Amino acid sequence: MEKRPCKNCRRLIEISPQRPNQLFCNRKICQRVRKNNWQKKKIVSDEAYRQNQDDAQKRWLDKNPDYYKNYRENHPEYTEKNRQKQQERNRNKRVMCHQKSIFSEIAKMDVSRTKNPIMSGMYELSSAQDPSIAKMDVLIVDLSSISVSYAKKNVKIE
Ligand SMILES: [Zn+2]
Repeated sequence: MEKRPCKNCRRLIEISPQRPNQLFCNRKICQRVRKNNWQKKKIVSDEAYRQNQDDAQKRWLDKNPDYYKNYRENHPEYTEKNRQKQQERNRNKRVMCHQKSIFSEIAKMDVSRTKNPIMSGMYELSSAQDPSIAKMDVLIVDLSSISVSYAKKNVKIE
């Protein structure tokens, strides 16, 4: 008889002719994984099924209104973990928003900058190779932007 490893626990299962597509062994945990996988696919692919599941969950929650409250009270470590994850998501979102606003500010700046993105002015210079140096002392440099045509005439670039 043909054998193949269970998709969950990797134990070899004997494939019977009655169930040629069997992917999981008969252990309880593996059958639960199989069912969860099936359900996840079904929820994505079947609108009616998803609606049905939502409705069933709502009905159940109506009958058990304190379920989540009790769960949180009985699983403080779960609640704490969730809270930390949410804080991290919020932090990431803030960073993303900040970056987006910087990019849109840059995009709004003078069109001439597309030719020469570095404008004259004061810049903080820090080491890209060694970030610890950058933390200790930041060099302030005064950069003067010159046009390429001026540079070609007056500055020898080696
Ligand atoms: Zn298994």
